[in-house]
Amino acid sequence: MSKSTLRIEVERLLKGPIERDFEFAPAEFDLLDDPEFRFDRPIRGSVTARLAGPYNVLLTGRMTTTTRVDCVRCLHPMEIPLDVTFQTVFLPKSQEEDYPDDPEDEERQFYTGDILDPTEHLREELMLALPDLPSCEYESLRECPHGRELGEAIAGGASAKPAEEPLPNSWQAQIARLRRDLGS
Ligand SMILES: [Zn+2]
Repeated sequence: MSKSTLRIEVERLLKGPIERDFEFAPAEFDLLDDPEFRFDRPIRGSVTARLAGPYNVLLTGRMTTTTRVDCVRCLHPMEIPLDVTFQTVFLPKSQEEDYPDDPEDEERQFYTGDILDPTEHLREELMLALPDLPSCEYESLRECPHGRELGEAIAGGASAKPAEEPLPNSWQAQIARLRRDLGS
């Protein structure tokens, strides 16, 4: 499968929602250059696109994959499963001027012409789902042998945050704002 599988013809949405399954190799998803997170499994998922207003497209879906990373505490290599759900509104590029630049509105996406290709956006959603401080204790994968002794040092740092806690710009927070914008 290739990226073209996710090209959605917006005109066809007038007849009803379109559902697409996808499977990307990490290279197709531009995931091979990250020095911290290593990807060697496919990214699989599905999206549903539907109209949420005149030519505004609501894209919902889910994707799963795994990434390999070293524990920030003990450097033990581990595999972290990723399960990402997303809900994003894409507006026609011609409407961009109606929405003044607002850094808080990063979740608003735009498409050009008649085709919506959400691949790049899905990649960003996946990046946002990566833990900030991946450690053995992420989702209790394993008890980190250095968790206790180094935990306090890390907890005292400026970036101290449990990996599971959603950040203000995480996809969870973005979806919460989208739902509010959609009035649903
Ligand atoms: Zn560890």
